[in-house]
Amino acid sequence: MITTNYHTHTMRCRHAEGTDEDYVLKALEAGLSELGFSDHSPWPYHPLDSRNIRMDISLMEDYVHHINALRRQYASRIKIYLGVEAEYYEGRMDQLKSLIDTHQLDYVVLGNHFHLFETNGRYYGHYNDTENLLRDYEADTMKALESGLFDYFAHPDIFVRSMDKWTPEATEMSIRILKKAKELNIPVEYNLGGIRNQFDRMTYPYPKFWELAAKIQGPVMIGVDAHSPLDLVDYETIEKAEHYLKNLGISPLKELKMPRVHK
Ligand SMILES: [Zn+2]
Ligand SMILES: [Zn+2]
Repeated sequence: MITTNYHTHTMRCRHAEGTDEDYVLKALEAGLSELGFSDHSPWPYHPLDSRNIRMDISLMEDYVHHINALRRQYASRIKIYLGVEAEYYEGRMDQLKSLIDTHQLDYVVLGNHFHLFETNGRYYGHYNDTENLLRDYEADTMKALESGLFDYFAHPDIFVRSMDKWTPEATEMSIRILKKAKELNIPVEYNLGGIRNQFDRMTYPYPKFWELAAKIQGPVMIGVDAHSPLDLVDYETIEKAEHYLKNLGISPLKELKMPRVHK
């Protein structure tokens, strides 16, 4: 069973439920030794943003304050880490850097959800410009991984949701991003949220992508992507994922080295 999870949301993002402490209590129930909070990073609004899947920037102080308080309160029972899940938005990386510095974040999860700004057609899980899907996804991914700001690559196969069928180009692109993550020693995440939701067949975690990951043998982590405290005790999904990866010959990392130091 997993003993750590670094992909945990809070109510502040508006599409998760439960109190911060509920997540800690469920993590303890699941026997986790480390729990990382990585709620959706509060980007200042871009004029073209039309969706909203993140905490308002005014809530960042509250987030930091409460997670740090829980960290102290539960210090003898579990290690709690503070991070965010952020996109790679070209031209806005200084904002992420300053968020990391100001709040002394332990780590940052790359959630490559959108290209440039947050709107429906730019969502990599439902990309309008299908012709350039792989090109744009790869470019944002490569720049993000090379930026030195990200420590963990969530649902690296999210682009599959925008495809009707897998293609040789998708294989090639996946190999390149998996190799880059390996070279930079950034774990790629086998995302349990995708298994729980199973919106459709073309979704993450996508078998063809993970077969490639098994060949490339870079670091892999299982991420619960908890949007409810109950996700942390969804043993059926966790076991399914562990079993699947084991059969592929992938041994997921147990821990993310902390604290990550960003420059
Ligand atoms: Zn979310
Ligand atoms: Zn997430």
